[in-house]
Amino acid sequence: MSETLIKRIHSMSDEVVDLQRKLVAIPALGPDNDGDGEKEKADFLIDYLKGLGVEDIREINAPDDRVSCGYRPNIMAFIPGEDASRTFWIISHTDIVPPGDPSLWDSDPYELRVEGDSIIGRGVEDDHGGIVPSLILTKALLESGLTPPMNLGILLVADEETGSHKGLGYVVEEHDDLFGKNDLFLIPDFGTPDAALVEVAEKGMLWLEATVTGKQCHASTPSEGVNAMVAASALVLLLNSELPIKFPATDDLFSPPTSTFSPTKREANVPNINTIPGKDVFCMDCRILPEYSVQEVKDAIAALGKTIEDQYNVTIDYHEAQREEAAPSTSMTSEIVTRLAAGIKEFYGVDARPEGIGGGTVAAILRRAGHEAAVWSTCVHNAHQPNERSLISTQVSDAKVMARVLFG
Ligand SMILES: [Zn+2]
Repeated sequence: MSETLIKRIHSMSDEVVDLQRKLVAIPALGPDNDGDGEKEKADFLIDYLKGLGVEDIREINAPDDRVSCGYRPNIMAFIPGEDASRTFWIISHTDIVPPGDPSLWDSDPYELRVEGDSIIGRGVEDDHGGIVPSLILTKALLESGLTPPMNLGILLVADEETGSHKGLGYVVEEHDDLFGKNDLFLIPDFGTPDAALVEVAEKGMLWLEATVTGKQCHASTPSEGVNAMVAASALVLLLNSELPIKFPATDDLFSPPTSTFSPTKREANVPNINTIPGKDVFCMDCRILPEYSVQEVKDAIAALGKTIEDQYNVTIDYHEAQREEAAPSTSMTSEIVTRLAAGIKEFYGVDARPEGIGGGTVAAILRRAGHEAAVWSTCVHNAHQPNERSLISTQVSDAKVMARVLFG
């Protein structure tokens, strides 16, 4: 019965390009990225959905006085199905990240460039690669006059790139009555070029900044000071070698299968060569398997830090830049995963590969609220980079997979 729908979607490449062109031309940057929010893009999307004939459109505005309209728009479009008690939700985000250094782009990031099957511009993948397939599915569905077996809910949220507190976090907190226990949740915001990866779990996350304080002095008389850089370097090496030993568990659901503990950013200390630095700051990015708590890792870091404090006569202070306990995983045999797998097999010819990743999608918000959410889309994998690219053909095929999930 959904064959008509699949055929219709198959003919919608021009619609993909047209929508992408319009969306790319409306930059939606959150205030943390020095932008004025998502309102203009949201207004365009509301008009588009109205134009398609969607009757039930709701706006869930999260107050935010940092943007000129005073809110961050979240849009819900609802198409009723035969079974009114369940909804297939497709959740994409409207905000983008800044284009970065313009000289790294071969063309204007806010003007869509088409090269064969490729489309280039800021946002074409992240997350127009989720928005556009869900919109052409909606268009094809309404044009075909079919009533889907369950409701279709298109949710276009704000603030994904800067924490989701005004986006899906707000929607789930304020309107969790929207979501039912039997609903299906798809977040098309991450995936692989072969379409096989279905993300079902995320590790916990700790971003920790360590400030090591010694005593500054002239470099010609080092014994008069305490070299904070030497102590910090010793701690970096200690954490790098000891944390994987203290937290050795592996889980093949995840790729990579272990927790990871990476020293990353290091701040500049003294500006000149002939001063012993009295302060040195570095950061750790820890991705923690669900069987360990973030606190256990933090405690282990503090204990290792204590040995460095004693050995080098420094003090160490820690600041958590981000802390996220792992959310419960979505079952590999959940309905959303099995329906997705069937669609992926049909339209991409590959077996779905359910996997856990290092973390960072909005799925965790839904999983914590008790919903089984899957993250899937077909990605070139160049989100946040210059010359962000996506494929017209995979956006059409992703819409077909979404149609299969809806119709079963
Ligand atoms: Zn994204």
